Amino acid sequence: MRGLIDKLERERGLSKEEFVQLLSGFTPEDADYLFEKSRAAAQSRFGRRIYIRGLIEFTNYCRCDCYYCGIRRSNLNAQRYRLTPEEILECCQEGYGLGFRTFVLQGGEDLTFSGQELAQIIRSIKNAFPDCAVTLSEGERPESDYRLWREAGADRYLLRHETADPAHYGLLHPPAQRWEHRRDCLLSLKRLGYQVGSGFMVGSPFQTVECLAQDLVFLRELQPEMVGIGPFIPHKDTPFGNQPPGSLEQTVFLIGLLRLMLPDALLPATTALGTIAPDGRERGILAGANVVMPNLSPLGVRKKYMLYNDKICTGEEAAEHVSQLAKRLEAIGYQLTVDRGDFKVH
Ligand code: SAH
Repeated sequence: MRGLIDKLERERGLSKEEFVQLLSGFTPEDADYLFEKSRAAAQSRFGRRIYIRGLIEFTNYCRCDCYYCGIRRSNLNAQRYRLTPEEILECCQEGYGLGFRTFVLQGGEDLTFSGQELAQIIRSIKNAFPDCAVTLSEGERPESDYRLWREAGADRYLLRHETADPAHYGLLHPPAQRWEHRRDCLLSLKRLGYQVGSGFMVGSPFQTVECLAQDLVFLRELQPEMVGIGPFIPHKDTPFGNQPPGSLEQTVFLIGLLRLMLPDALLPATTALGTIAPDGRERGILAGANVVMPNLSPLGVRKKYMLYNDKICTGEEAAEHVSQLAKRLEAIGYQLTVDRGDFKVH
């Protein structure tokens, strides 16, 4: 195993078979060996600085029906909401005061927000906060919308590929949602000059180590600027409500592998990681993650953006408690930083 970890560090990639071997046989000692290297790779580029992004969950209406997701169209128990442009700007205003220089607008695929309307929202954020980056995360839209938003000033786009195995993709989504379409969206976003984030859930139903190896091979090829991964967590009102969650150990091991494979990438310690274990985010950072994304959504709607059971949103992951988060990161030797935190090759 150590030979494979050394090779990954040297060559920034492995074959699918080698990834399968690593993922199916690693011991806790192998993981510690990996984390020493992956942490060092992060620290040599970013020091002990952690970037923060303010997450604004601006709508939970969604036309999609992903079997794992709590805000899927068929979940009639979800209480739906959408923020007004004014409310979105107020979130940014609050976030700016707290030191955020990146705003992430995430939502369900809500076509009530037309391409033009979102472009207008992006322009008003960029006008009011010219020193801030705007990241979008609103799923699969026509390339013409992606272009409009880029022209309006959006800098980055998060679109997890969810799984790079088309057959597995078909087990997580209804037939109308196709792997090839999601992949094509990622390629469009790259072409349009966005800093692109992709990623996947760890431990999603029917996932095998071969699927995960395929995810790593896919990401090596895509060379995204950001990669978000987190454990799958069931949501009670979905078809996967009784499935077991993904594991912390496997998630942090994958963060370590991603850091060695894409050493300059921005890798968040995600909310899902913080939800499955109280020290999940710290464990992610100690495996090489360098971003956290506290929640900036208005308090009244936070509980409604419930992607999975017990999603945390009011403790240290809340933007208004960013100073508590800073203290926790200081306890493991890291500092939060006020910075746009753009991708750069070191
Ligand atoms: N509509 C946007 C945002 C989706 S929500 C889009 O399609 O990109 C953001 C991410 O949450 C998803 O990409 C998915 O990977 C993750 N997610 C959804 N349900 C989840 C669950 N039950 N457990 C863990 N992560 C989940």
